[in-house]
Amino acid sequence: MRWSMIATWKMSYDGVKKGTFLLKDNKSAKEAVLEAIHEVEKNENYHSVGYSGLPNEQGVVQCDAGFMDGETLQAGAVGALEDVVHAVDVAYECSKGRFNNVLVGEGANEFASSLGIKKETMLTKESYEKYLQRKKEKLPLSSYDGHDTVGMVALDQQGHLVSATSTSGLFMKKKGRIGDSPLIGSGFYCDDEAGGAAATGVGEEIMRGCLSYEAVRRMKEGMSAQQAASSTVYEWTEKMILKKGYCDAISLICMNVQGEVGIGTNIKFAFVCADENHEPQVYVAIPDGKDIILRAYDDHQDHLD
Ligand code: ASP
Repeated sequence: MRWSMIATWKMSYDGVKKGTFLLKDNKSAKEAVLEAIHEVEKNENYHSVGYSGLPNEQGVVQCDAGFMDGETLQAGAVGALEDVVHAVDVAYECSKGRFNNVLVGEGANEFASSLGIKKETMLTKESYEKYLQRKKEKLPLSSYDGHDTVGMVALDQQGHLVSATSTSGLFMKKKGRIGDSPLIGSGFYCDDEAGGAAATGVGEEIMRGCLSYEAVRRMKEGMSAQQAASSTVYEWTEKMILKKGYCDAISLICMNVQGEVGIGTNIKFAFVCADENHEPQVYVAIPDGKDIILRAYDDHQDHLD
């Protein structure tokens, strides 16, 4: 059976490399995805995920994460979690039980402590400086500035899919605001009988369309991963423009049960993928009417995380 992995944004590259070693070695999609997301969460150079994430309007880093197992359909998530670097681990632990699969705020933190996860200061000097600067400029919450989610989907050699997310959400968001990333079906979804998906972009735009579920549903109905991803994003974008005159940024990664991948995006978007025939590589997706232009990432002209 083939294995395959796809992840949002260039920042996922090192993580995907680690994840693919595991998949090659016949390890599970769960292990690969958790390991790959850990790499991004602990990297202080990325200010939109985990340690050194950008804070909310009160200067506090609050993280969201989600995890779903395509074999069992067990899913878990945490929202507005504070002082925990690996939010995705807490989401994974939440996915194991019969109840309490989605925890937010203080409850999510108490659960993390009960697992023995130690508290760590998430705000670095650099992200605090960005916060102070932004406060001084008195800018409104921006639709695309200082946020990105690491979202991943992997297929292992046993044919099982996993999809997961982790993010510090929108920079300067309200205390307690959660985005799409911890919402099952919005920020992430997967089902071994259909495929998996994960999203990044403005959570408020993604969650009202349950876009990850919608893309997986389309794969189940027979669409390729690429058709499912692009039709989901383009149709939703058109609908939002019709309804309210604009559509904020949405990007979706998809994978079907054969490990074939697809991208849907209404902005320029970077992603990483690999399978047994291809080493991890960063690509760029650019929307072009109802089509999408895909090419290798170029450091000289592409300046995306
Ligand atoms: N979707 C995330 C959120 O709304 C942010 C992002 O992916 O850029 O919290």
